Amino acid sequence: MPDNDAFPRRDFLVSSITAVGAVALAAGSNPAGAQEAKSAAPNADPSSGTLYSGDVIQGKKVISSLDIADLEPGMHAFYFQGVQMPSGQRWYVSVLVAKGSKSGKRIGLISGVHGDEMSPMHTIQTVMRQLDPAQMSGSVLAVLDVSRPAIEGMARRWPNSGRGVDLIDINRTFPGNENGPDAATRHAALVFNRLLRPNIDYAIDFHTAATGMDMTAFHLARMDLPEVKAMAELYPISQIFDNPAYPGLLASALIDAGVPAFTPEIGAPRILDHNMIPVFVEGTLNVLKHHGVIAGAIGRTGKDTNIFVGNRAHPVMASEGGFVELLVNLKDKVEAGQKVAIQRNTFGEVVAEYVSGVAGEVAARRTDATAEPGTMLLFVLYNEPVKDGALAYPE
Ligand SMILES: [Zn+2]
Repeated sequence: MPDNDAFPRRDFLVSSITAVGAVALAAGSNPAGAQEAKSAAPNADPSSGTLYSGDVIQGKKVISSLDIADLEPGMHAFYFQGVQMPSGQRWYVSVLVAKGSKSGKRIGLISGVHGDEMSPMHTIQTVMRQLDPAQMSGSVLAVLDVSRPAIEGMARRWPNSGRGVDLIDINRTFPGNENGPDAATRHAALVFNRLLRPNIDYAIDFHTAATGMDMTAFHLARMDLPEVKAMAELYPISQIFDNPAYPGLLASALIDAGVPAFTPEIGAPRILDHNMIPVFVEGTLNVLKHHGVIAGAIGRTGKDTNIFVGNRAHPVMASEGGFVELLVNLKDKVEAGQKVAIQRNTFGEVVAEYVSGVAGEVAARRTDATAEPGTMLLFVLYNEPVKDGALAYPE
């Protein structure tokens, strides 16, 4: 679950360490280190070209920087060279590029920022299989497995080893820092600076609920940004949470860099949700049609599903430890004061009853039977006239 306190501290550390010159220390140690430190400088210039490492892994060429302008029209598959592991080997990121025969908008589709979220990857693979570059104007960049070490463990967070096992939520670190104090923050920056930012005009960063939770077909999207709103409403989904959520989100960092972006949530974590995936494939194809990347009639959109848009998410949080019985389902409308869950101890005695503090719609609910004090049991999406920033939220 989210950790609101981590971000300011990390941000402070990143600034301090950068200020004392981590690059200079690395450069002083040996010639190889010097070369590495030099190559770690941010690569903001999209005209610098695609850099091939010379390696080929499982038939895929390895790149350390991508410039889609270099590529021939067609479908391309690469491994992007991410940050090094303690063993000295690297985490590679799977990248697909569909480059159209004509120029046009450049769309980024991203999955695997959290490693326990599987349906996003399948959604993007399904979209990419339907693309014919010969018929396309512009390009689609698919970055499929951003947090490889988290994916290997079916875990939300990146297992960093610098100070003993330390789990880092990479979706609180974007745009990252290539000279940052941990591998995850450096990896975030490599992906952001050398893959995404130079190659996309619009982006969609697909997620699911966190482990232990389930969600409706849902977006986290800034509806105050017209270009984001236009894309978000092209999905035939149930709900939109109109809120900037956290600093450090990939979508927020992209917006700050001038790339309209939002965060769909494709139901439950850990599984391929074959009921929900087609909804997000259809919406994504609608976005590609909207931007003129592919031709064809727009499919079902939010107009067909009467999307409920809320600007606040009310968390119902466990106050006791024990076994939880939820009394409401996803999408149910609840009233303020309505009983939504009871909790029993090991003897079967009721130790807590929980009510919703607001009237709204159930957006997410716990699926694991147990909860400890502080565990989120339910999120109720609702509206308040004034938005005031970051909230606990299971993206
Ligand atoms: Zn996520």
